[in-house]
Amino acid sequence: MFPGAEKYDIDIELAETAVEELLLVGPDDVDAADRLTFSRNVFVPLTTACRYTCTYCTYYDPPGTEALFTFGDDPDDRYTAVHDQLDRWGHDSIHAYLRQACEIALEEGLLPHANPGDQTPAQMRRVADVNASMGVMLETTADVRAHAGPRSKSPGQRLATIRTAGELAVPFTTGILVGIGEGWRDRAESLLAIRALHERYGHVQEVLVQPVVENDRWRGGSPSVETLRQATAMARAALPPEVSVQVPPNLAPAQELLDCGVDDLGGVSPVTDDHINPEHAWPAVEELREVAASGDATLTERLPVYERYLPGSLRSDSFEGVPADSTRDWLSERIQTAIGAEDRAGRRYRRALSAGPPAAAPGQLR
Ligand code: SF4
Repeated sequence: MFPGAEKYDIDIELAETAVEELLLVGPDDVDAADRLTFSRNVFVPLTTACRYTCTYCTYYDPPGTEALFTFGDDPDDRYTAVHDQLDRWGHDSIHAYLRQACEIALEEGLLPHANPGDQTPAQMRRVADVNASMGVMLETTADVRAHAGPRSKSPGQRLATIRTAGELAVPFTTGILVGIGEGWRDRAESLLAIRALHERYGHVQEVLVQPVVENDRWRGGSPSVETLRQATAMARAALPPEVSVQVPPNLAPAQELLDCGVDDLGGVSPVTDDHINPEHAWPAVEELREVAASGDATLTERLPVYERYLPGSLRSDSFEGVPADSTRDWLSERIQTAIGAEDRAGRRYRRALSAGPPAAAPGQLR
């Protein structure tokens, strides 16, 4: 049973044989992908306040000196300063504020992908229709000291958030964080727990394998390349083929992981910093192309929502995957309209769906 499972009513049972089998998987047991994807993004942190204080995180800062521009995990739950600021701006919660930010993004021709930490069903419902996809890192199903503090993340709550996304038919991104004190069995169980939820709802579009990195707060070291290679191979083996395995090239040695089943390189921003890992700049698209070439793979752009969740009328002619369950409403009318629009943004989205090599766009870094 995972820590917090009872409190959050997590009904995932993992077969011991599945855990044992996954623990035996290595790089030689999986195939390299012949196609890598990435997406362009603009990173918009709404607040650096967070109710937690994970010891490897340089993102959070207690509020007091800054305007509320940037979003850790449920910050208005912990800090009255955040709540008061939101109140002055006419929002009753951080999710009301997030909704407005997503609406502005849509108006500006961007497809929102919000990652606001753990969410209750009511919170997620409040923003689901203005997001193309959402996400939260599971990180690990284990209780680790790195999450310690007066308040700490609960694996049960993380799993509940991923389950909520499935119940609400939200295409979802999650992942494991490698090197925060978890063991191999924890990694296997984390990946199998994600698989179990995906098998139930079909909503997990990608799973990150992300190493913890040294920074001002974390001096616990980073996992070795060999550790990352095995963890990546385990992710590939644990997850069904339609779920992408992503490594972030600004944090992980992507070239050395390509033969372990990686098929996505995550988001790259032409204009903003990686605020979660500010010391590790996002690579330019040209660098991603080099990574792909080193593994004899093609590089194609994708949207923040994977194509299989789009209705058939919006999918590209070159789509070869298996469509997600068409009886579920994966995307709101509003998001569908944004993707299908023939305006400035629509052309951009359609180009990303063309499955060709990334095309140059005016004003975008190459
Ligand atoms: S890792 Fe996430 S939950 Fe933990 S302190 Fe940082 S922003 Fe908050």
